[in-house]
Amino acid sequence: MKASEIQALLDEPACRHNHKEKSGCARPRPGAAAGGCAFDGAQIALLPIADVAHIVHGPIACSGNSWDNRGARASGTALYRIGMTTDLSETDIVMGRSEKRLFHAIKQAVAHYHPAAVFVYATCVTALIGDDMESVCKAATARWGVPVIPVDAAGFYGTKNLGNRLAGEAMFKYVIGTAEPQAARAHPARIPTYDVNLIGEYNIAGEFWNVAPLFDELGLRILGKLSGDARFHEVQTMHRARVTMVVCAKALLNVARKLQEDYDIPFFEGSFYGVQDTSNALRDFARMIGDADLMARTESLIAREEAKANAALQPWRERLHGKRVLLYTGGVKSWSIVSALQDLGMKVVATGTKKSTQEDKARIRELMGDDARMMDDGSPKALLSTYHEYRADILIAGGRNLYTALKARIPFLDINQEREFAYAGYCGMEELARQLALSIESPVWQAVRTPAPWARQNLVGAILGVEAHG
Ligand code: SF4
Repeated sequence: MKASEIQALLDEPACRHNHKEKSGCARPRPGAAAGGCAFDGAQIALLPIADVAHIVHGPIACSGNSWDNRGARASGTALYRIGMTTDLSETDIVMGRSEKRLFHAIKQAVAHYHPAAVFVYATCVTALIGDDMESVCKAATARWGVPVIPVDAAGFYGTKNLGNRLAGEAMFKYVIGTAEPQAARAHPARIPTYDVNLIGEYNIAGEFWNVAPLFDELGLRILGKLSGDARFHEVQTMHRARVTMVVCAKALLNVARKLQEDYDIPFFEGSFYGVQDTSNALRDFARMIGDADLMARTESLIAREEAKANAALQPWRERLHGKRVLLYTGGVKSWSIVSALQDLGMKVVATGTKKSTQEDKARIRELMGDDARMMDDGSPKALLSTYHEYRADILIAGGRNLYTALKARIPFLDINQEREFAYAGYCGMEELARQLALSIESPVWQAVRTPAPWARQNLVGAILGVEAHG
C-alpha cells in the first residue's frame, strides 16, 4: 500500500475529530502498534465473518498474536475460528518462496474447507519483502473459482484503528457491491421488510442475539454486518440497505461514509448498551426509513420492552443504587457504558478516556458532571489510587486489568471484548446489573481482605507470648 493511500485513510472526513491528537485516527507514532498493530486491527474487523477462510501471510507469530483473541460468536459455522497461516520461515524469505507458499495455502484452504471466500492478510514481513499479494489473490481466484481477497494492513502501517479502517477499505474495494441480496421472505405479520446494515457490531459473547429478535419483529432485515456473525454473501450485498447503523465504532466510519456517497445509504451512530440507547437506536432506524407505520410499531415495541426491562431491573437497581464505579474502557464505549450504569442508579466517579475522541469526552462530561475524573493514565498504580481516592465500589475495565483488581482484592467486572457475558439490548442490561451485583456483593472480598485463620492464630500467639513474658 502506498504512503499516500494510508495518509488518505487517516484523514476521514466523516469523523469530526479527525485531526485531534487523541482521535482514533490520529497519525501513528513510534510504539503506537504496542496496543495492537494495523494487522491486528484488520483481523479484529474481519475475523468474525464466519464462513471465510482467513489466512495470515507471514510468520506464525503474527497469527498467534491475533487469533481468536476476542469473544465474537457466530451461529452455524466455526470456519473463522480455524487459524490459518503461511507460516513463513527465514528460508522461504531468502529463497523467495513466500508467494508460492501463499498460493499453495489458498489451494489447501479451498480444498479442505470449501469456504465462501478466502481473506489473505499481509503482515510486516510480507509487506517489507514486497510480495504482490493482489496478483497472487487474483490468480488464485481465477484458478480455484472462489473469491480471494487481499487485506493489505501490515502491522507497521500504524495503529489498530488504522487496521480496522484498512479492513473496511478492502471490503469496499473488493467485496461490497459484488452480489445482490435474495428477495426478503414475507413477514409473518404481513408488514413491509426494510434492509439495514450494522457496522462495528461484533456479537461479543453473542450479545447481538439479544437484540436480533426485535429487528425481526419490526421487519428490519439485517442485510449485512461488519462483522459479528456475518457471512461473506451478506457483506457483498451491503450496498442495497436502506440505512446503516455504526455501532460504537468510529474506526469503520469510512465504510459508512462511502456507502452514503456511492449508494445513497444514510447512516447514524448508536449503541445497544443500556435501555435508553437501545430504544434510541431502534427509533433512529424507523425515523431514517421514514415509514410512519414502522415508527408507530417501533414506539409500541419500545414501550413494551422498556416496561419489561424496568420491571426486571427494579430489584437490581435497589441493590446497586448509589454504588460508585471506576470505569476504565476505551472510545465510544466510555459514554455508552456510563449512561447504562447511570440508568442503574450507580455513580461513575472516574472514567478512562485514553482512546476517546474530543466528542466522546464532551459527551462523558455532559453525562457525569464536572466532579468526575477523566483519566488518561491506565497504569495499575493510577487505577488503584483513583479507586481508593474516589472510594469506588467496583472497577469496570478490560480483561488486562483483571489481575490488578484481584491482587488489590477489589470487585471487578470485565467489560471488553474478552468478556463472557452478553450486555447488549434490554435483556443484556439485566445481565449487566446481575454481574455487577454479584461482583460487588461477593463474600470473597471480605474473606480475602481478612488475615487467614493461621495467620490470625500466629498473631494471637505472638501477642499472648509478649504478654506472658512482659
Ligand atoms: S504484523 Fe508486524 S507488528 Fe503485527 S504482529 Fe506481525 S510482525 Fe508484529
